[in-house]
Amino acid sequence: QVRVRFPPSPTGNLHVGNVRSALFNWVFARHYGGTFVLRVEDTDAGRNLAESYQVLYDSLTWLGLDWDEGPGVGGPYAPYIQSERGDTYRDVATRLLESGAAYRCYCTREEIEAREAARPKGVPSGYDGFCRNLPAERVEQLEAVGAASVVRMRVPDDDIVFDDLVRGEVRFAAEHVPDYVLVRANGEPLYTLVNPVDDALMEITHVLRGEDLLPSTPRQIVLYEALAKIGVGSGRTPRFGHLPTVLGEGNRRLSKRDKGAGLAEYRDQGYLPEGLLNYLALLGWSIAEDRDVFTLAEMVDAFDILRVNANPARFDPRKCEAINASHIRLLGTDELTAALVPYFVSAGLVADPPTPEQHALLAAVTPLVQERIQTLSEAVGLVAFLFVDDAHLEVEDGLLGSGADAALRAAHEALEGLEPFDAAGIETALRAALVEGLGLKPRNAFGPVRVAVTGRKISPPLFESLELLGRGSTLARIAAASE
Ligand code: GLU
Repeated sequence: QVRVRFPPSPTGNLHVGNVRSALFNWVFARHYGGTFVLRVEDTDAGRNLAESYQVLYDSLTWLGLDWDEGPGVGGPYAPYIQSERGDTYRDVATRLLESGAAYRCYCTREEIEAREAARPKGVPSGYDGFCRNLPAERVEQLEAVGAASVVRMRVPDDDIVFDDLVRGEVRFAAEHVPDYVLVRANGEPLYTLVNPVDDALMEITHVLRGEDLLPSTPRQIVLYEALAKIGVGSGRTPRFGHLPTVLGEGNRRLSKRDKGAGLAEYRDQGYLPEGLLNYLALLGWSIAEDRDVFTLAEMVDAFDILRVNANPARFDPRKCEAINASHIRLLGTDELTAALVPYFVSAGLVADPPTPEQHALLAAVTPLVQERIQTLSEAVGLVAFLFVDDAHLEVEDGLLGSGADAALRAAHEALEGLEPFDAAGIETALRAALVEGLGLKPRNAFGPVRVAVTGRKISPPLFESLELLGRGSTLARIAAASE
């Protein structure tokens, strides 16, 4: 029975690298009919704002990555929020101390630094094990005077080797894995303790996460083994798979500050969750050669963690946009209309919810924009002209160009009496009047009409646009532009 987890810290806007981890875990769970656990790692309490938890849940919900256990849905290992699990961590730390797997370390930071500085060159850095085997009397003395102590893991002196699902065999030499701190002197448990303890207690079978966390894996493996000995959790160390680093500009790891790194941007710009997830899947995985576009269901079907590529993956915003565009093309008209509504609402172009007339107009323009937008928000600019009053249409100065007047006057005349006012008739009438009548090239003929009516040089197909706008507004706008 596969059990995986996504354990983000609630620090606000999710990083797309983390979203990729969530996706791979979710897909892995769904592929095997397993369980996807959401666990909130908020032991670093100072950094967490109340609304960040909600941002997290909303983000995953928007993405469609539903969790089987976790906040809001509960589950057999609740609570799933680490700040509510303090008693568990205290209890486990005590048992680790009792078993000898961990020990109390009384060294001050200054003492550790001084010894580190005095160490001969070539000796790996890290805690030197000074308190590992303090005589019992010494410990008693220190405790008697109330000396502060941290809890340290007693890391065995063997190399740590594991078989990574993505990278194959990974080996850490013992001297590079020093005894590390599990609990601070003030009693606060650290990530190094709580993350593996929860994985053990929640019976996590596979840990799929970013390569940046690889250095913590040997420490965690040591801890899982110690936990198994004292009967905490399933007793089985999870399998690890470290997903390739995501590179941003300049071949550096995509950092929180990079453009395109935060999930909220994608939602605001109008990415479809499926489009974004499809792109993120490509950061390390592919469904087949020469195939970039697939649905989430297809990914679930085909996913194989052993086929994830260990090489760093470059984040390419243009490709991300193109993949999203492909997903927009795949939607049914009604689906796309529904997806567009929130963007028109927040632009103030339609009521919330749209009136039946506004909804009908949106439905009518949907086929006109479907092939032309990469993100949903682009549709707003493209067809805003249909939703504003004639008086509020903004036409940028100079966009009409000189010599537009003649074309506009001829267009006005041609459309005034046209019956019926439909795309085919409009096209015939405008061609006759402007191209044949005035001898204009099509671009010079229709360009001014487009600008006068839509306020832009780029719009959905002109004749369909005019039909949707209707005769009254079309004529009013042409007249206003040729004044
Ligand atoms: N809370 C950690 C993070 O956000 C979890 C890492 C892990 O997957 O173990 O990076």
